Amino acid sequence: MMTAMPELPDVEIFRRRFAAKGLRRLIDAVDVRTPRVVAKVSPNELKRRLIGGEFKEARRYGKRLYVGLQDGEWMSLHFGLSGELKINKREDEVPGFARVIIDLSDGHRLSYTNRRMIGRIELVRDPRDDVRAKGLGPDALDSKLTASAFYQLLHNRKGGLKNVLMDQSIIAGIGNAYSDEILFQARLHPAQSPAELNKSALSTLYRILRQVLRQAIAAHADPARLPRHFLIPHRRSGAKCPRCDGSIERYRVGERHGYFCPSCQRQRTK
Ligand SMILES: [Zn+2]
Repeated sequence: MMTAMPELPDVEIFRRRFAAKGLRRLIDAVDVRTPRVVAKVSPNELKRRLIGGEFKEARRYGKRLYVGLQDGEWMSLHFGLSGELKINKREDEVPGFARVIIDLSDGHRLSYTNRRMIGRIELVRDPRDDVRAKGLGPDALDSKLTASAFYQLLHNRKGGLKNVLMDQSIIAGIGNAYSDEILFQARLHPAQSPAELNKSALSTLYRILRQVLRQAIAAHADPARLPRHFLIPHRRSGAKCPRCDGSIERYRVGERHGYFCPSCQRQRTK
């Protein structure tokens, strides 16, 4: 089980899955069951470009997976609200909501599943250009995102921390569930603005952000395997806070809901 909407740790698990079983095998067949998930090329064109080739490399940037083909092109996968990358054997039952199915010569089958169909597969010439064109900020786990780069990115921001962390043009990879987790671990109120925090609070936030994402990857992004002190398995209103006696509250963020503990995540002054 992944968290509801794929974020950096989930997509990193998809990447590892792809790297372990999807590379350097001949692509035998491509079945586009839901043409609208394929963007910028027609389903037939996608098939033509993939069949007979092989994937050479799997990279992740933020919530995107890029898989490189032998001819230098890349397939970009975005998982939207409910997408997953599944790898089975060809003789296994096809996973539910499979939108695009790729059969490999060694008997494995890659399925891009997506219940709600928000999320796309595209072909791009270069992942770096694509990241630039999409206006994404640095990947949340990129080595170039140092504590001081993080401080520069955040210290003047007026919006609430929750929205700032989820803004892919500032930092790429964090969504609703992990922004809740990071703020819970950092004991910061979701509506607090980064501009109201001092340097040391921002540097703690940075350290916790990286740690939460790494721990989530180590737990295979599976809520059941996350550390016991994590909020994610308790994201429902009225749940007991895993740290204090308080109870978790739900609040609106745009069209979604976030969760926090009002007793341990209080507003701070600089
Ligand atoms: Zn609490």
